[in-house]
Amino acid sequence: MKVSRKKRFIRFIFLCIISIVIIIILIGNHKSVSYSGKKIDVQNNDKNNLNENSNQNSIEVEQDYNETDLSTDNREDDIDNDTENDTEDDIDTVLTVPVEEAYKKDDRKIAFLTFDDGPSKNTTEILKILDEENIKATFFVLGKLAKYNDETIKDIYNKNHKIGNHTYSHEYRKIYSSTDILLNEVNKTNEILKGILGDDFKSNLFRFPGGSFGENKSVYRQAIKNQGYKYVDWNALNKDSEGRNKTPNELLLNIKETTKNKKRVIILMHDSATKKNTVESLPMVIDYLKNEGYEFGVLD
Ligand SMILES: [Zn+2]
Repeated sequence: MKVSRKKRFIRFIFLCIISIVIIIILIGNHKSVSYSGKKIDVQNNDKNNLNENSNQNSIEVEQDYNETDLSTDNREDDIDNDTENDTEDDIDTVLTVPVEEAYKKDDRKIAFLTFDDGPSKNTTEILKILDEENIKATFFVLGKLAKYNDETIKDIYNKNHKIGNHTYSHEYRKIYSSTDILLNEVNKTNEILKGILGDDFKSNLFRFPGGSFGENKSVYRQAIKNQGYKYVDWNALNKDSEGRNKTPNELLLNIKETTKNKKRVIILMHDSATKKNTVESLPMVIDYLKNEGYEFGVLD
């Protein structure tokens, strides 16, 4: 009798210990459940379900990754808003594409807005619109106008738009009379820009007045290259320098027609003093391109 009571006591103690161990294990499991949804799936399912679980896990990981991406984007947007007037800080947000890659064949839709023959009073209006839309553009300026519009040149530069060289005079008969004269005009314009923006200013971007096309310009193309410049033409335009003065809607229509089915578009427009309708049409042009899914970049 005494012995069996002792045995029962031992069994009781043993059961108590087992119960405590089970309770500890259960509490431990409960903690992992509340810590991570993934852990309970793996623990509660047999090996046959493991593959499915690992798929779920990878999906979750992907979702986490996307969410991280989005929050990073938002942060960038916040930075944009915070530093709208702080031109130095938004350098990183400018999509800068080397001329050689401007027409790269991939799925990315990029529009490069380019304005030739300025600066003028219209340039100031264009800069305001670009600011409102948070878009950067490329300006091919003339030396003869730059020297009288130094504040506008500074504005273009300080707002992180790109400045390219478009000769000093733009007079075809002069600039295409010899390679020396062309290069003199290019260098003179470069010196004027350095005089306004400081010796640190450097741009090796050039656009030929009238474009680089044609066999008769091959000697000029070579001369410009030898001088260390990259030249760039266009594959879309609003036709604001062709024929009679066009209405803003006509200019928009030309943009729609010439950008059609193109992923990379280098758009030629003009910011000279007479191109008021180019300024008028610009918000519509930007709206159209945005709706078509284009990002905006500058050339380098
Ligand atoms: Zn021009």
